[in-house]
Amino acid sequence: MFNRPLDSAYTYLFDGSAEEAEGRRVIATLGRQKLTGYVIECSPEPPPSLKSDITLKQIERIVDPQPVFDSELIGMARWMAKSYICSLGEALSAMIPGGKRDKELAPALPGEDEGLRQEPISLSDEQEHAVQQILSAPRGQYYLYGITGSGKTEVFLQAAEATLKEGRGIIYLVPEISLTHQVVQVIRSRFGEQSAVLHSSLTQSQRIAQWRRILSGEARLVIGARSAIFAPLPDIGLIILDEEHESSYKSGTTPRYHARQLALYRGGVHGARVVMGSATPSVEAWHHMNKGTLRRLDLTRRLSGGAVPEIRVVNVKGSDSSLGSELREGIRATLKEGKQVILFLNRRGFGYFYHCRSCGADFSCTRCSVSLTFHKSKQKLVCHHCGYQRPVPQVCPECGSLELGYSGFGTEKVAQDVEELVPSARVLRLDTDSTRKKGVLEKGIADFRQGKIDILLGTQMVAKGLNFPGVSLVGIILADSSLHLPDFRSYEKTFSLITQVAGRAGRYSPDGRVILQTLNPAHHIIRQAAGMDLEGFYRRELDSRRELGFPPFSRIIRILVRGREPGRVWEYARRIHSGVQETMEGLNLDSWEILGPSESPIPRLNNNYRVHMLILSSRLGPLQQMLPRLLSSMKKDYSLYTEVDVDPQSML
Ligand code: ADP
Ligand code: ZN
Ligand code: ZN
Repeated sequence: MFNRPLDSAYTYLFDGSAEEAEGRRVIATLGRQKLTGYVIECSPEPPPSLKSDITLKQIERIVDPQPVFDSELIGMARWMAKSYICSLGEALSAMIPGGKRDKELAPALPGEDEGLRQEPISLSDEQEHAVQQILSAPRGQYYLYGITGSGKTEVFLQAAEATLKEGRGIIYLVPEISLTHQVVQVIRSRFGEQSAVLHSSLTQSQRIAQWRRILSGEARLVIGARSAIFAPLPDIGLIILDEEHESSYKSGTTPRYHARQLALYRGGVHGARVVMGSATPSVEAWHHMNKGTLRRLDLTRRLSGGAVPEIRVVNVKGSDSSLGSELREGIRATLKEGKQVILFLNRRGFGYFYHCRSCGADFSCTRCSVSLTFHKSKQKLVCHHCGYQRPVPQVCPECGSLELGYSGFGTEKVAQDVEELVPSARVLRLDTDSTRKKGVLEKGIADFRQGKIDILLGTQMVAKGLNFPGVSLVGIILADSSLHLPDFRSYEKTFSLITQVAGRAGRYSPDGRVILQTLNPAHHIIRQAAGMDLEGFYRRELDSRRELGFPPFSRIIRILVRGREPGRVWEYARRIHSGVQETMEGLNLDSWEILGPSESPIPRLNNNYRVHMLILSSRLGPLQQMLPRLLSSMKKDYSLYTEVDVDPQSML
């Protein structure tokens, strides 16, 4: 099999025994190219389907001295190919190190830790109950639903330890390994040689080496991000999926798999326990807890002396500064007490838009249909989608006016406002602009934990699972920034982000405070988040999804066609549309719907026009069967690219 969108396997000659080739990567010629392929089957005779007049080519060379995958992984690849509508080769290359470049964030692991103990702790009653439930049967599907700081990690670790004692293996999934330093350290100290850490800063050969340790049974506890779900453990007893709601569990490239779905699939194959956990479960997971298909285990208290913080909602409509008066007061008071502050804003850059104040002209990316963001330090306007940059114009190209300026603000502007407010404070900004250099993120986090920094300001990065004992104030600069995205999950994303960020305050002392700035104080999402009304949020969100027929009450497949010429893109998308329409009508399904084709919310990206459609159906199976046939029967247009996304997480 090759990493190509081709659905068939190829046959080659090999002078040697099956044991030397099976489960390995090889180099072979396909057409005129030399490619890496995967040996999925060896036999002494050519397969009967092969035409007898074909001359078979030899395999050039075998890459791996030992197998890198086994029949279980091939089975998983077949399942992925069917589920996510990709080729078997594409599935295999996503699974096996060396197949595909890993897109997960870069890590490296310095600094000391506080918070999590290196030795097992005596559990609270709730934790004890959770561990017992998980261990009560060799297999099962659980959800550890516990507020931030309620000690979910210790439950995972003790369940892992018990599973290891049974002689079975564990996969421990985290959203980003670089932000999970604490857990990694604990695992190294408690499980030592039996553990393997798969992080994306490993070189190719280190990765393969870890892979072999796992395949041979030497390492039986594997921790890593999304792709660690493919770890070739021979006998899995437990799969942990921490921070289940995180969108990084979904792959952004073909095959667009979701680690949660693969965890459930693989747990089933191995007869293992699957345990997910979060303080803010996804709406889908909540629905499954309601139905009982996921068994819910509750943790309701903070265990290390903290309390759930109070959240104050502040209306900042009409305010110029990024810091309203309450937040200013809060920051001053917190620093005076010698405590630390986290400020959160989901926007990078200085000014969000740059435009002409006389005629209103704004500046868009030349390659994408999005506005450019003003970055003051670079003195550039930057496209956050493709990276295009241009100097800041001094004169409006439309009307000649000199009255150009920005509106809205990003983290860079907040940093400046903070600096003006408390000039002596040590401020660290963490966003993808400031952490591009390797190690900056890890060092920043370590410095903040050690109290060398007073104020940590950043995007999502500061919201994810980090525990800092000294933090007593969390400021959410603009809670609405993700509320109106063109995505049916925008309420869910906003709600869970606020809840997660707020959870960074007061983990270890009862004086935590959150100040939430918003332009929509009356919006039900803001009210529910501020009131920590999770039950209310899920109830209302599920009602509205039911009414609109969105997941979890339907499954979605998104098809996006992109290419340089809008005419051809549209034409091809319309043909797919009518093909789907025709086939679906023939299937007599009870409920399905096709939305589009329409311009995607970002109609042009990197000079590619993008047209998409959504197929909603109560059942996915018929679509998964019909689509590959339909797409391969269509006349090819090599100037276009068609993306198929099953259960899409992003609609942009
Ligand atoms: P969560 O993952 O639920 O947000 P953590 O697992 O990070 O929470 O735990 C928060 C803190 O509580 C950690 O510092 C941890 O060491 C501590 N903790 C966990 N369990 C216990 C316990 N049984 N007794 C005392 N402290 C605990
Ligand atoms: Zn103008
Ligand atoms: Zn762009």
